[in-house]
Parts: sequence; C-alpha cells; structure tokens
Amino acid sequence: MLETKSRSTTACVVGGGPAGAVLALLLARAGVEVTLLERHGDFLRDFRGDTVHPATLDVLDQLALAEKLHARPHRKIGSMGMIRAGKRRELADFRRLNVKFPHITMIGQWDFLDFITGEAARYPNFRLLMNASFRDVVRVDGRVCGIRYREGDEEHEIRADLVIGADGRRSTTRVAVGLRPRAMGVPIDVVLFRLSRRDDDPPEGITLRLDGGDILGLIDRGSYWQSFVEIPKGDGIRALRAAGIEAFRNKVARLAPFVADRVGEIESIDALGFLDVRVDRLRRWHVPGMLIIGDAAHCMSPVGGVGVNLAVQDAVAAANTLVEPLLRCQRAGIPVPRSSLAAVQRRRTMPTATMQLLQRAALRVDLNGATAGTGSAEDGAGAGAGLIGKLMGRVIAYGIRPERVRNERILAAAGGGGAR
Ligand SMILES: Cc1cc2nc3c(=O)[nH]c(=O)nc-3n(C[C@H](O)[C@H](O)[C@H](O)COP(=O)(O)OP(=O)(O)OC[C@H]3O[C@@H](n4cnc5c(N)ncnc54)[C@H](O)[C@@H]3O)c2cc1C
Repeated sequence: MLETKSRSTTACVVGGGPAGAVLALLLARAGVEVTLLERHGDFLRDFRGDTVHPATLDVLDQLALAEKLHARPHRKIGSMGMIRAGKRRELADFRRLNVKFPHITMIGQWDFLDFITGEAARYPNFRLLMNASFRDVVRVDGRVCGIRYREGDEEHEIRADLVIGADGRRSTTRVAVGLRPRAMGVPIDVVLFRLSRRDDDPPEGITLRLDGGDILGLIDRGSYWQSFVEIPKGDGIRALRAAGIEAFRNKVARLAPFVADRVGEIESIDALGFLDVRVDRLRRWHVPGMLIIGDAAHCMSPVGGVGVNLAVQDAVAAANTLVEPLLRCQRAGIPVPRSSLAAVQRRRTMPTATMQLLQRAALRVDLNGATAGTGSAEDGAGAGAGLIGKLMGRVIAYGIRPERVRNERILAAAGGGGAR
C-alpha cells in the first residue's frame, strides 16, 4: 500500500514496531483515522524481541485476538531459569501464576507485527505506509502538525493532528523535536547467534548459564537456540576479536556442554550480532502535537526480555488516554490538549522507571554471582538472584501496574468497520 501524495490524517504513528503497530491497531478499532509509517519494506528483522508476555496476551484476549495469534507458529515457555555449577534454579516460573496465559509466547517479532498490522488493516481508517522513512516534523506556530517522510527518492508530507514517535531506541522523531534521553550506565553489551536445536536437547526454555564470570543465554525457538553471550561494555567486542572465534566457541561449549558438538555453526566473530545494551529514558515524552512512546521514550536492557511488553503497555495507555481527544479532534477540530499527552507520560513513567531500576539491580547481581565462580545456586549470589528472581516472576510477566484496554470503542470494535 504505497502513498505518493501529501495527505492528512488524525494520528500519524512513526515506527511499525510493537509500540507503533499496537497503538495503530487500537486507534483504528476506535475509529480514529490513523497512518502508520515504517521505514523498512517488511517486518523481517532477526534478533529482536520475540517474546509476547502474559500482560500483552491479556490485552490481545480483551480484543479477542489471543487465540488467533496462537494459531500462528509459536512456542510457549513456562519459566526462565539459571544454571550455575550444574544446578538449575527457576528465576521466574510463569506456570505458577494463576492467570489465563501462564507462559511467554515465543513468536518471531515479524510474525507478531504482521499479525497486528493485518488486524489493523481490517479497518478502513487505518493506513500503512511501508518503505516510508521519517525525515522531519512539520510545525505551525511551534506546534507539531505533521511530518515529512522519504519514500525512495521522493519526499512527502502528512498533516496530522497528533504525531506519535514510536521509532525505537535510535529514534529520530525525538531528535527532531529536541528531546534527548538520559542514559543510565549498564556494564554489559551482548553478542547474539543461533545454534541448531535437537529434539533430545535439555528442555531449557529460557535459561542463563553461568560459569566463571561468563553468561550464556539460551532461548528455545523450536528448531534453534536463540543464543547470546554477555560481554563487558566498551572493550568486550575488541577482546572477543583478539581472542578469536575458537576461544569463543570453547566458551560456549564450556557454558553449555550439550551444544559442544555444534559450536562450529558460529562462523566467525563478525557473524555475531551485536547489541549495544542501553538503559535510557526521556525526561519529557511530549511536545505540543507530538508524543513519544516505546523504546524511543525509554530503552530497556535485555534483562527479563521486557522491552516488547513495555512498548505494548505504552501503546495501550496511550490509546486509553487519547482515543476520545483524537475523536473530538477528528469530529470538531478541537486540538488534542497537551495535558492528555502529559497524562500518558504520567501513567507510564513509574512502571518504566521501576522496571529499569530492577533491571540494573539484576544486572549487578547476575554479574557478581557469575564472577563469584563455583558454588551451588543456593549460595550467596544465588540467594541474591533468588530474591530478585522471586519479585521478577510476576514483574516479568506483567510489569508494574499492567495496562488493560479501558476504552469501550476499542473493545466493542468488530473487524471491518470499527466504532465510529
Ligand atoms: C537484539 C535485540 C534483542 C531483543 N530481545 C528482546 C526480547 O527477547 N524480549 C523483549 O521483550 N525485548 C527484546 N528486545 C527489545 C525489544 O525488541 C524492544 O524493546 C521493542 O521492540 C521496542 O518496541 P518499539 O516499538 O518501541 O521499537 P522498535 O521495535 O525498535 O520499533 C521501531 C520501529 O520504527 C521503525 N523506524 C525507525 N526509524 C524510522 C524512521 N525514521 N521512519 C520510519 N520508521 C522508522 C523501525 O524500523 C522499527 O520497525 C530486543 C532488542 C534487540 C535489539
């Protein structure tokens, strides 16, 4: 669905990740004219968050979409654990939660986004622009009233009553309006790779394997293990290169002996994905006419794999708060008040900041535990991890103060029309 002319819309969402796609779906269901821009031609990106948490599944269930999502290829993971000195300890056991979806659904993020935008496309007031790269905002009298985007060699403009920047951790929408995140220090980066999975491999679900200061993460993706190794921030990647691929393969084999027979699948250090781990947050998530949500407003570390869930929670909170002002704007031209944008930030700041605090604490505990070397999972470092882990069980599944869809128009919408 390509667009070649200038146009106008009520809400223009920049970025077709979990935050932008879910927000666009919710607004479309409520009858808001919404345009979603994605700079890529598809959603196919490897090594992104592929976890759909119980809180997000609950939201999809409210929209009668959870069952439909689960009709797509997926895996359900009931716990997150840690193996240290040969002993496994559950860091978070979702199976013990008394909820409808006591598991994390592992589904490729591309599949999740394809599903969400496919659902949104059932509403005539939803428009998806792929290959459309945000360039700048359009302002009138200091208020954001649209965007310019590039598609191929052409530049286009969309006038919008509200622009929502959901363009991820390297957001250019926030830069365009002079908003800069405050970075919080984290000690690690992460390298990512795949290893094939065999049917007789141990049932690890999501597991951290710790030994001698090293941490390997394994996520069961059915035919393969989505794998990552933590490295020290800064010099870590250079040290990996200096040590060479064989040393890296040996490290992986030492941490998870059952994959020793296939570490040769890691072709080279250059073939590893690299994640610059960040934790940051905007002080202000909005300017007149524009709101920032998701990773663009707050980048999360990989601890607990909560980034997707937080992005979706932001989208739900934004939709709950903004649907009525947007519909008023659509019907009567009354601008969305800045107080509504501030209300979204107010709603989401505490859950986000608390999660970032917990993530940073957990990073310290994990590293110290690993550095302590041998000993059972029940020893000193293990007890620290257990305490945090106990709290994280519920917190990973639901976050702090989980969002539910509260707007009746969104809930009542049936595909193909939406409540107008
Ligand atoms: C390697 C890696 C592994 C991760 N693993 C997990 C995990 O296991 N679980 C988890 O929950 N989270 C994980 N995360 C984090 C998770 O992916 C993010 O927190 C989540 O995707 C944030 O959603 P978002 O919609 O805010 O941003 P994003 O998912 O980053 O989406 C932003 C979208 O905006 C688009 N965009 C960017 N710039 C422009 C532009 N100029 N114009 C138009 N579109 C633009 C991008 O193409 C992208 O599609 C991982 C992240 C990485 C990088």
